[in-house]
Amino acid sequence: MRGTLSTVTALALLALSTHASPLPQPREQVLRCTLDTAEQVSHIENQNLDVWSHHGVSAGEKARPIDVRVNDAQKAALLATGVRCEPFIEDVAALLKEEMIPVSQQTLQKRAAPSDPYFSTYRSFAEINAQIAKWASAYPTTFKDLGSVGQSAQGRALRAFKITSAKTGPKKAIWLNGGIHAREWVSSATTMYIAHSLLTAPAGSPAAALLDSLEFYFTPMSNPDGYEYSRTTNRMWRKNRGKNAGSSCIGTDLNRNWDEHWNVVGASQDPCSDTYSGTKAFSAPETLALSKFALSLPNRVAGIDLHSYGQYVLRPWGWTYDAPPNNDFYTRLGDGMRDAIRSVYGTRYTSQSGADLYPAAGATDDWMNAKARMVGFTIELRDTGSYGFALPARLIVPTGEEAFAGVVYYARFVLDNKVPILTPARS
Ligand SMILES: [Zn+2]
Repeated sequence: MRGTLSTVTALALLALSTHASPLPQPREQVLRCTLDTAEQVSHIENQNLDVWSHHGVSAGEKARPIDVRVNDAQKAALLATGVRCEPFIEDVAALLKEEMIPVSQQTLQKRAAPSDPYFSTYRSFAEINAQIAKWASAYPTTFKDLGSVGQSAQGRALRAFKITSAKTGPKKAIWLNGGIHAREWVSSATTMYIAHSLLTAPAGSPAAALLDSLEFYFTPMSNPDGYEYSRTTNRMWRKNRGKNAGSSCIGTDLNRNWDEHWNVVGASQDPCSDTYSGTKAFSAPETLALSKFALSLPNRVAGIDLHSYGQYVLRPWGWTYDAPPNNDFYTRLGDGMRDAIRSVYGTRYTSQSGADLYPAAGATDDWMNAKARMVGFTIELRDTGSYGFALPARLIVPTGEEAFAGVVYYARFVLDNKVPILTPARS
């Protein structure tokens, strides 16, 4: 990724400005490859190729298809290893242009759910914060701006808010976290869309009824530095933007930095890797602040960490193939979310354990389940790779609508079923 920074910068600028003249750029493609040998895995690691598949690659993992972004020279060198690849995205630059085409208000209005021009395109950190302020004044009864729960490595606020009804009494808390991986823009957009859907749920609807029994807590942008860097400089940035002592490489993978079996699998100790897990669990200010925020919710029962892409509903565990106690509860919940998502537009998500996708330790969902007494899930939003991270803006609303159906199912399920506590908190 570092080797192609200037190319990506140029592509991102081209995509963000409709007036930029189309300068010739080296063509970049995304290949879908199946790695058969350890040498092929090492080639991808040694060349620091940009792996789009959420899991990345690590030694010992073979025969899994991965999506990898390459220019022509990188492609030739990769294919010389004998790896089996097919072109998956023919032209990344064309994709980035399509991503930022805003949706007309007319199109938004045609949809069944009430919509808002805010969701016509991907929004900046400042615009997301402005929307939070707007909601605070528009919905003074149901919306509470919790301000900042901490600061990013570069000092940006980690914003949080709460949505619930005016009804008092004991309520359970659900936490929805978005944007922990910088380039997964639809994660923050969907987190905001879920909030919008709760705020505008018609009185008497199943969604509105949830607010009488639940408090929904949102942190829609848990990696604001990375997100802004991805918007302005390197569209394919994944990590945070913290400096690493002794290395010129920037950033920690915030979804490898949580204090649960930290760094035992699917993570790297190379600060230049896209899955660098940090110097220790919670070494990144973002994960430390988010974990403290989650633990500050005494009535917490459940949480979802939203990512893209792949269309998966992932239950525990992420770090081991072993099934957790109460696997039946998790499987029923995950399968039900999958079906609820599909009921909206027929979109097929896969319900399985995180490790069955790819074992990785130190992720948010495992920490929720093991350390925070929460039913933790990860959702990988649209798509299955045709657009990858560059999901066109016109798909923000449908992605949000179906994800919201999944969240409503999930919330109802944790209200109606006894929630298993997997393990007591460990130090
Ligand atoms: Zn992710």
